[in-house]
Amino acid sequence: MSNDNSVGTDRDKGENAKLNFHKQFRSAGRGFWSHVSDADWNDWRWQLKNRITSLEQLQRLMPTLTPEEHAGTLLANSKLALAITPYFFNLIDPADEKCPIRSQVIPRIEETNTAPWEMSDPCGEDAHSPVPGLVHRYPDRVLFLVTDRCASYCRYCTRSRLVSNAAGYDFHPEFEKQIAYVRNHPEVRDVLLSGGDPLLLSDDKLEYLLSQLRAIPHVEFLRIGSRIPIFLPQRITPALCAMLKKYHPLFLSIHSNHPRELTTEVREGLGRLADAGIPLGNQSVLLRNVNDDVTVMRALVQKLLMCRVRPYYLYQCDLIAGSSHLRASVRKGLEVMEGLRGHTTGYAIPQYVIDAPGGGGKVPINPEYVLSRNADRVVIRNFEGKIFEYPEAADGTLLVKAPKEIEEPELV
Ligand code: SF4
Repeated sequence: MSNDNSVGTDRDKGENAKLNFHKQFRSAGRGFWSHVSDADWNDWRWQLKNRITSLEQLQRLMPTLTPEEHAGTLLANSKLALAITPYFFNLIDPADEKCPIRSQVIPRIEETNTAPWEMSDPCGEDAHSPVPGLVHRYPDRVLFLVTDRCASYCRYCTRSRLVSNAAGYDFHPEFEKQIAYVRNHPEVRDVLLSGGDPLLLSDDKLEYLLSQLRAIPHVEFLRIGSRIPIFLPQRITPALCAMLKKYHPLFLSIHSNHPRELTTEVREGLGRLADAGIPLGNQSVLLRNVNDDVTVMRALVQKLLMCRVRPYYLYQCDLIAGSSHLRASVRKGLEVMEGLRGHTTGYAIPQYVIDAPGGGGKVPINPEYVLSRNADRVVIRNFEGKIFEYPEAADGTLLVKAPKEIEEPELV
């Protein structure tokens, strides 16, 4: 007995130490770029110009490249290009083959394996595109794609068919047609700018789009989806924030998957966006050996709150072709969610969803907390596994007298 207790205590201590380690804010540092001036390093255009985009650069900077990564990088330009900002590259641990940052951005040969159920357009966006660059999948909102470029490319990207233009998708958004579509559809009250990454546009170009959309009376709400605050926090300039704040209500969803991505640089950039009054949410993708771990996910969501970002969605990895090596199971996702609910602040808990394959939209997935519904009660469990009853008739009406004796719960 005492042995069991001491083992449990040691495990708890270990998990706490891991949680605290992941929650520390650190700078990405300069790494190989210590000779670069502060002005250049902090200039987002310099970062873009100096991205790692070839096998030669990668080998020079990371002699520990594995044969799988070497072969994957050779083939990247025919599928999804390789690009990593110097800033983000510094977060990679070259000594760790399973580094959670490395596997998100360095191609692997496994990307060429396509399982029979994998697709190039797993969310069925192309089938719901009335004009180039616009997806109208849900009744009252549209996805407005502005570019096929990103600061760095995520190897599991659900839009890898079009981003980076390596696969010859022929992506040509037509802004005037997209704006006209929104103008002519009064049911559209919410426009999400995405891509590729909208924050790669210049301030002027982005302002043009936002001002055109804001001028449409039935557009109540604008959103931007961007991974730039994580890949390229230098882009979050005071000038950008001053421009964005003219177009409220404007929300911004960032995309981070691992607590190491939340550096001091990222925290400062997110602070500038929050100070501009922009509500911030985060979308994560559940990825194998990246964040399919309760303690890592807990550190991520708690750290996001410290950066003034509300965790919004945790996505089951879409069935994008060549992503099975990065996909964690739904069972694992439910285990992670189980480890969050009740164990940390409610604001820190994202909604776990599966984007239904083929275009069915987002379906919320939750651990089962309702154990049964009987004639006079709903039987529930809490995060500790304790069972409770809520009196209610089977037809949903409130009971006027106490339920009879407790019945054995029937599992639903
Ligand atoms: S930043 Fe977004 S759009 Fe770009 S590669 Fe990553 S997941 Fe895809």
